[in-house]
Order: sequence, then structure tokens, then C-alpha cells
Amino acid sequence: MNITNLTLTELAAKFQSGELTSRAITEAFIKNIEAHDSDINAFVNTTFDLAREMADAADSRYQNKTLLSPLDGIPMDLKDVVSTQEAPTTASSKILENYIPPFDATVWQKLKAAGVVLLGKTNTDEFTMGASTETSAFGVTKNPHNTQKVAGGSSGGPAASVAAEFSAGSIGTDTGGSIRQPASFCGVTGLKVSYGRVSRWGTIPMASSLDTIGPIAKTAQDCALILQTIAGQDPKDSTTSDKPVPDYLAGLGKSLAGMTIGIPKEYIVDGIDPEVLNTFNATKAICEELGAKLVDISLANTKYAVPTYYIIAPAEISANMSRFDGIRFGTLPDGTTDLQSIYKETRTQGLGDEVKRRILIGGYALSAGYYDAFYRKAQKVRTLIKQDFDTAFLEVDAIITPVSPTPAFDIGENKDDPLKMYLEDIFTIPASLAGICGISTPIGKSKDGLPIGAQILGPAFTEDRILNIAHQIQLNIT
Ligand code: GLN
Repeated sequence: MNITNLTLTELAAKFQSGELTSRAITEAFIKNIEAHDSDINAFVNTTFDLAREMADAADSRYQNKTLLSPLDGIPMDLKDVVSTQEAPTTASSKILENYIPPFDATVWQKLKAAGVVLLGKTNTDEFTMGASTETSAFGVTKNPHNTQKVAGGSSGGPAASVAAEFSAGSIGTDTGGSIRQPASFCGVTGLKVSYGRVSRWGTIPMASSLDTIGPIAKTAQDCALILQTIAGQDPKDSTTSDKPVPDYLAGLGKSLAGMTIGIPKEYIVDGIDPEVLNTFNATKAICEELGAKLVDISLANTKYAVPTYYIIAPAEISANMSRFDGIRFGTLPDGTTDLQSIYKETRTQGLGDEVKRRILIGGYALSAGYYDAFYRKAQKVRTLIKQDFDTAFLEVDAIITPVSPTPAFDIGENKDDPLKMYLEDIFTIPASLAGICGISTPIGKSKDGLPIGAQILGPAFTEDRILNIAHQIQLNIT
């Protein structure tokens, strides 16, 4: 049996029936990481000793019939912005290279309490700013389908880890597309939850009005299992919603018959790769065969989404990054004598170019003379973008679009062109600004063997609905 090839759902079933031990599952993933991560660079740090200990504990619980949850004994990794007391949490930045948090993020507390085995922490663009993991201080993550290509970003480590069969599932973060785009580039499933569905306490923030945490795994069913454990209100995160958490697995059996799915004309743009378009059209046909009604819709303010995001996100980034000052976080550089030089040297040496660029843009957009022209204006346009979705969802149950205009691009291709890199998220950013949920599902491959994905968007707190649509597509795709 090829253990690492199985879905998380299948592994959980085999562990719970006694067919496989957690230790055997864990060793199989460790073997893959040891053999191949030197090519891929998905992991920033591994925690194999801990993983073996946690797996053995899960096996004892199986013997004693005291299993903790459906995820008990399952090996996963975490994007390296999720705070863990067991391992450094670096945000793939030099400034946090040796930082071991004194607490666990809520999402890790929940997974640990569910019996999940931690294999390690996976790579990201520095502080999650980027779309290719090329801004990581610890090197780019390569695409397991073709190592000349990026894995996407910023959750390139988590997506590559699942695609390369280094772990059964992972936790990523998505602020403007960072779960959906790498999942699409790596041919796995990634869920960006609605704003407020999953606690962000203890996860290193990027842009606080946009950040979300969600699962990346092989299938929609796997993502449903993980989401069940991590969703819900958290007294430590006042932005979490008190809306009840539905039974996501139970929601997976529904037929698409009678459902209306919108196709926004603004997403079928010039310059979209013909193979992406063909694969997307084939997926539309599958939805129709499954009984869904497809309708053309318009999300008229889509063209303003990228510029709006690149005002709001840097503004919030500049505020969040102020804590990295060499005093509370960051190592004190030698030769610094006064407060100014501590700030300056810590940041000069500890932060990369993209992070610095965003701090500068954000500081500018928030400055007294420009606040109204940029930040306030961007907030108003954000409302219009959200209203486009509100109006569309009066007519349709969900929306389907490509995830990205192209399959994974070459390493280095966009690295020195920030504007080109920013446009990578043209299809994922609008949903982030609106706070709604979206899932990226694999729908095929280009002739060069690169994965292509579709994005299914639903109104806020309809994760059950979009998980089911992705699941139905995954069951029926050939
Ligand atoms: N690529 C986008 C950016 O660089 C989104 C990043 C993210 O979602 N964390 O801001």
C-alpha cells in the first residue's frame, strides 16, 4: 500500500479501523520528506522527534479506545506563521529566525487537542507577503509537478507539502489568495474561510481586516474534516463569529440539481491562458451535467479590486509590522547604541525588500496628507466590491471562476516586477475584500502537466455549500 498517496479521510479510516498505526503513517511521510524535501524546500523546520512521540501517543489511545477526534493520529504541517511552542515560528523572515513562541495559536491548540501529529512548519513568502514564496528568507519552495516552477504563495510550503505527499494536510493563511492560488498551482484543494470563521489568535498577522486561516489538503472532504476541528468562536479573537459551526461532512452529499451558479464576465479576461479557459469551460459543463443552472453575472467593480487591496493591505501591514522593533521581537544587532539605531538596524537587517516596500506604501497611504485620498477612498471602493457580491448572491447560490489566469509560472519570472506579481491575485483578491468564502479545487492539467484550478465562491459562512460543490466536482471529474 502506498500510504502517502491516500487522502486524509482514507488515512483516518485506516487508523480508526486498526489497519494502520499512526506511527506507520507518520514514518511514511517522514521518509518522503527526508528523501525529497531537499528538492522542494517545503519545510522551514521539521519536528520528527515530536511527531514520533505524538504518533505513539495516538496509537496508545487507539489501543485504549480513547481516540480524541476524527483527526487523531493524522500527520499534518502548519504554515510557519502559526505559533507553536514546540518549534520556531519564523514567518519565513530573518527577523524571527530563532523565535520560539511562548504560546500556541488557537488553531494549533485545537488540532493538538484533536490528536494531530505535527511534522513541521512550512514555508511562506516573508510575513505572507507574496504570491510565489520567493520572498521567503529561507529560499523558494519549488512546485512538485515541475521544479522549475513556483509552488505559488504565500502558502507555497503547505500546498507543496500536500502535493509532494509530505503530509496528509496543512494549515495555510489567505489574505488575498494565499491558500487558493498555491493550492491551484500544486493541484490540491485549499479553502479560504469567511472572515471570522476560524480564530486567528496566535497566528502572525499580515492585514488584519483580510487575514483568514484555513485547510489545504488533497480533497474537499479532507478540508471539511480539518475545518470541523478548527472553526468556531474564540474568546481570544473578537473577530470570530458566534454563528454555529455546521456539520461539514454531512453537507457533502447534496446534489447540485436546482442550484444556480454564476459566471462573472469580468473574470474571463483577455490574456487568460487558453488551457486555463478550456479546462474551466469543461468544469462548467460538469456542473451543468450535475444539474446546476449556470448564469452569466457581472461583478462590475472587479477592476478596482487589486488597486484597492494594495492600499488597504499595506496600510494594515505597516501597523502590524511596527511590533518588530528589535525590542519586543527581533534580535538586537551589534553596535546599536540608541533607540533609533536599534529600530533601524533591526529592520534593515531583519526584513526583506517586499516587506519594506509594503511598510513604506502603507505608511504613505495612512499619512495625514494622503489618508482621505488613498485609505478612505479604498475603504469606500471595498464596500462597492462587497455590494457587487451581495447583489450577485441574491440571484445565485455560488460563483465559479478560474483561480489564476495562468498555471504556475517560472521561478524568477515575476520576482523583480512587483506589479506583475500583484496581478497574480486578480481573481482571488475580490473575495478577500468582501470577506466571503472560496475554495480552490483542481480541475485538470495543462499539456505540460501543470495543475489548473477553479475557484468556487459562496456568501459568508456558506463553507458547507462550497465544500459540497467542490466535492461533487471532484467526484465527477475524469
Ligand atoms: N499575494 C497577495 C499579496 O502579496 C496575497 C498574499 C496573502 O494572501 N497572504 O498580498
